[in-house]
Amino acid sequence: MERYQVTDGEGFRLADHDPGATSGVDSKTKGRAEVAGLTTRMEDLQRKLYADGRHKLLVVLQGMDTSGKGGAIRKAFEALNPTGVHVASFKAPTEPELAHDYLWRVHPHVPGDGMISIFDRSHYEDVLIVRVRGLVPKQRWKARYGHIRDFEQMLVDEGTTIRKYFLHISRKEQAERLQARIDDPTKRWKFRLADLAERKLWDDYQHAYEDAIRQTATPDAPWIVVPADRKWHRDLVIARTIVETLEGLDLRYPEPEEDLSGIVVE
Ligand code: AMP
Ligand code: MG
Repeated sequence: MERYQVTDGEGFRLADHDPGATSGVDSKTKGRAEVAGLTTRMEDLQRKLYADGRHKLLVVLQGMDTSGKGGAIRKAFEALNPTGVHVASFKAPTEPELAHDYLWRVHPHVPGDGMISIFDRSHYEDVLIVRVRGLVPKQRWKARYGHIRDFEQMLVDEGTTIRKYFLHISRKEQAERLQARIDDPTKRWKFRLADLAERKLWDDYQHAYEDAIRQTATPDAPWIVVPADRKWHRDLVIARTIVETLEGLDLRYPEPEEDLSGIVVE
């Protein structure tokens, strides 16, 4: 999994990352079986994270339309106890959100002790669509990489573990998935004509993603570039790296505060 992790953005090139990679797992069946085992493991670890209450995990999911952010939440995190999870979806900002700085709407959704927050899009939209669409002047979005590094470092310094995922799909795969959204009546609700306009700006978005990763990948807040053309592989990379991350936290069930030795419930 290490090859997908970016802890130092310098010289990062998206072109070095193949969206179709499968990590040597040669079938969907094997991939899905491994994901099933990992999600069970993740459930145990989350229970401990919650009981322990000394750590918190922020998971950021970013990617082009149809890259599978929603699918990843459904599949890779399916075994988690909802009580300990907060999912925040960041859409186009509302009027009050636009009237504030771009981190204002984000901060209330970061995890508290024992919790996992999953961001479906995030503050990175403010250097992605905002940059590509020129929604604010260049000097404003340029300054944001620094703010974002500082904001994330502050969260880490205050006890949060951060993992940021870029779900990397190919242009061809996106075409198939958008077409499926149009053709399949049960998927049509997810499609907007505006998605085609965004697709026309594919290269600009790839460039904006590359720059965002270059400027904000750090050892404390790494990006994981997930080869996501195969949905099972997307879930495999996410589940493996989340399990690894939680295993690295040295979680433990707290000692009872009162002496319970010899106590028998009548
Ligand atoms: P979806 O994820 O398909 O529900 O779409 C949400 C839309 O909101 C996407 O087109 C995002 O690019 C857009 N969006 C999210 N955050 C922002 C933001 N800060 N500024 C402008 N558009 C945003
Ligand atoms: Mg959409």
